[in-house]
Amino acid sequence: MSRVLVTGGCGFIGSNFIRQLLAGDESVSVINFDALTYAGNLANLEDVAKNPRYQFIHGDITNRDAVRAALAQNVDSVIHFAAESHVDRSIQDSGPFIRTNVMGTQILLDAVREFHISRYVHVSTDEVYGSLGPTGLFTEETPLHPNSPYSASKAASDMLAMAYHHTFGTPVIITRCSNNYGPYQFPEKLIPLFISNLMRDESVPVYGDGLQIRDWIHVLDHNAGVELVWRKGRVGEVYNLGGRCEKTNLELTHTLLDLLGKPKSLIRYVADRPGHDRRYAIDCSKIEQELGWTQRWTFEDGLRDTIAWYQANTAWVETIRSGEYRNYYERQYGRR
Ligand code: NAD
Repeated sequence: MSRVLVTGGCGFIGSNFIRQLLAGDESVSVINFDALTYAGNLANLEDVAKNPRYQFIHGDITNRDAVRAALAQNVDSVIHFAAESHVDRSIQDSGPFIRTNVMGTQILLDAVREFHISRYVHVSTDEVYGSLGPTGLFTEETPLHPNSPYSASKAASDMLAMAYHHTFGTPVIITRCSNNYGPYQFPEKLIPLFISNLMRDESVPVYGDGLQIRDWIHVLDHNAGVELVWRKGRVGEVYNLGGRCEKTNLELTHTLLDLLGKPKSLIRYVADRPGHDRRYAIDCSKIEQELGWTQRWTFEDGLRDTIAWYQANTAWVETIRSGEYRNYYERQYGRR
């Protein structure tokens, strides 16, 4: 029996990961360690809450005692998703990003070392590489050049993790993935923000000229990669994950309008995000060749499935939209 501690398991990617892991392998048990910030939602894992191989601990990774107590429960692996994850919020206030992403990771790494955890998978982002021109791809060798407070805090945590590996032999493996989409994503991020606005015939805020390019991957394909890295990845290595699916934000907006049958007049151009990265694109051939990872979702199927999920889960969306999120939205984009 393998006992895995997942941090941030009540968020978008972590909750999908835990569901996938518990369904796929009966010899795995999971401790979900999550602080339940604005982005953490117990409802994301309601369906597994009673699974005897699942345990939830309400804890903060910046709390050393809480982290140590959790790792003392015969944990053999740690998969670290917990983070402050939204670039726009990091521009409004970078403090929580440094606290959780940098200091929290340091505390977790200390505990991983102390309890002789056999594998530590550090889930990171392609944003640590910075921004690309019109050509080229990020590889695992691309130097880190983060441009936002969010990506700077993630790059700091990546470097700290690798420094622990180098200095203490901590069994660190890093994954760096491009933009995820799929069910349970908090509606501050582009795709669920636009779907949930359009479902209510509200306008969608497009930053600047809308020609920023992002690479999109379905969350379940990302998570399949994280699981493979956990099982078979080489310690001390970085593995990029991406969807080979570059779209401008405007292209994506038009696709969403078409799929939801809404008029182009709902596009509202707003001032660009300060320091907005222009293009991300990722070379994921290392994980394909070394670990046999492949994508299962096409963007078209994944997007249709995601829209259907949001349409079927309006209560989940509305609970979020009526809470703290509403104040954030008005600060960021003005009134709807
Ligand atoms: P999310 O914001 O949806 O969820 C983050 C989770 O972490 C929440 O459940 C929150 O309660 C928890 N958390 C935050 N601070 C914590 C703390 N101090 N202690 C314990 N738990 C805490 O984020 P997500 O989109 O699911 O991203 C998960 C990870 O994947 C992050 O590390 C992010 O950098 C990385 N990532 C995200 C994307 C993406 O497109 N969303 C892409 C690549 C990598």
